[in-house]
Parts: sequence; C-alpha cells; structure tokens
Amino acid sequence: MDILACPMCRSFPLKLSVFEHREIHRPDKVRKCELYCGFHRGFVKDLAETECVRCYGFEVGSGLLECSSCGRWYPIVDDIPRMLPDDLRDRKLERKFVEKWQGRLPERVVAEVSQTRQP
Ligand SMILES: [Zn+2]
Ligand SMILES: [Zn+2]
Repeated sequence: MDILACPMCRSFPLKLSVFEHREIHRPDKVRKCELYCGFHRGFVKDLAETECVRCYGFEVGSGLLECSSCGRWYPIVDDIPRMLPDDLRDRKLERKFVEKWQGRLPERVVAEVSQTRQP
C-alpha cells in the first residue's frame, strides 16, 4: 500500500494506523508498493525485496492517516482514505469515525472533533 501525500501541505509519507483490515487473495493483481510502504513504514528501497509482495493482499477497512508535518489527519472509512482539503472535509463522517474508534485514536484527534461538534 503506497501512501498518498498530504493534500494540504504535500508532505509525504503519512503515518498509517490500521484499525480494521482484511486479507484478500487476488493473485492476478499482485503488485508491490512502489515508493513508500505504509504497512512496513519505510521506503521501498530500504526494505527487503520480498516484503511488499503481500501488501496488496491487505485492504485497510478502517484506519487513520496522520501528517507529521502539518498535524492534519485523514480517516480511512469503508476502505477509502478520505484525503480532502480543509474546506471539503466531511465533518459528519469524521464525527462518526471518531465515535467509533475513540479508544484507538490519538487524543488530539478526538479533541479536535469534539470542538467542532455542532449543538
Ligand atoms: Zn508494502
Ligand atoms: Zn500535511
């Protein structure tokens, strides 16, 4: 799984935390990570050659992507990383996400969403 860059500050890579994943078997679609591997948290050039063979057999159902440069975070919901700039973020979806994974999210993420909660 190659990790995308932060849509706001273009920082790369983002830190991936996986809350839910599935193993899928699609031998016809085996691909290796190309630049940065989110599962092994390393650049592909630094990893052993065989390590990324199984990465594409994983699908992240729910998780969190964090940008260490600007501090923004992006939820992965229903297998899809929601990488949107600030003005397009889906706050409703983010609240649901935070309620569900409260115990596993960094405190600052939980706090941020509580602050934007509408009355
Ligand atoms: Zn990989
Ligand atoms: Zn960023």
